[in-house]
Amino acid sequence: MRYFDLHCDTMTECYVRDKHIGENDLHIDCKRAAVFDTYVQCYAVWLPDNLHGSEAFQRFCQVAERFTAEIHSCVQSMSQCQTPGSLELNAGQHCAVLTVENASALGGKLENVAEFARRGVKLCSLTWNGKNELGRGVRAPGTGGITPFGRQVVEALELNSITVDVSHASPELFYDIASMAKKPIAATHSNSKRICRSARNLTDEQFHVICASGGLVGLNLYKGFLNDDADKANMDDVLRHAEHFLSLGGEDVLAIGADWDGGAKEDFAASGIEDIPELIELFLRHNYSEALTDKIFFKNAADFFKRENLL
Ligand SMILES: [Zn+2]
Repeated sequence: MRYFDLHCDTMTECYVRDKHIGENDLHIDCKRAAVFDTYVQCYAVWLPDNLHGSEAFQRFCQVAERFTAEIHSCVQSMSQCQTPGSLELNAGQHCAVLTVENASALGGKLENVAEFARRGVKLCSLTWNGKNELGRGVRAPGTGGITPFGRQVVEALELNSITVDVSHASPELFYDIASMAKKPIAATHSNSKRICRSARNLTDEQFHVICASGGLVGLNLYKGFLNDDADKANMDDVLRHAEHFLSLGGEDVLAIGADWDGGAKEDFAASGIEDIPELIELFLRHNYSEALTDKIFFKNAADFFKRENLL
């Protein structure tokens, strides 16, 4: 069984709550990862909206260092993937990819994009939910999208082979990024607004824009983004979002961005959503071919990272 997940907050939680990736009570640890034959997990350095400037950059460095230390402590089964070819090299391992959720982490300094690249960051969103010096996130009041600094950062990210993640972008920010991006863009952990109206989800038009860029969209397993009535969310909702995106032509674009530890554990636990092998079974039971199921759960993301020469 192969699994490639574009987004989780587990490594940030390891830092904030002083847990270890080897074994913990969070969503992911090395012990449970052993269920997969091949497992690639993107681990986000997440920054809250109130951190800015040198304090924000310092937080990025601290979580990134913790990420390195945690991998080192599981060296038998886990490795960081950060150079082209490393997916092949580390097949069969628990492969960790470093990403950034909220480019406040740059501390307002363009030159820190190079530091992201040096540490192996492969995906980066400009904002989290709020507004920062790069642009307006999806839950910030008012209007407006990207700032002049945000434009410089998009260019620098692309030059440094870091894919721009639009998952938390306000609609204006989304279209500002899409219209200037020269490379594909990704919404690493967003569902369909047609199925669940959360502001965090994508309109059909946004999905088409990402498809046209050659990008990726990761299905999010958090209950509030699956069903308008979050407490009724269950595994079938994941299928509904997938089916809608596939009906829009997303066969080569759809992936998973589970958002593990991006909310309380009970907000993911509905009807076994946490159980990825069972979720894969559900797709197969609903007459998804093995090939299409594998595309969604692994291959589309792996192909993207290879195609873009990221891994
Ligand atoms: Zn998020």
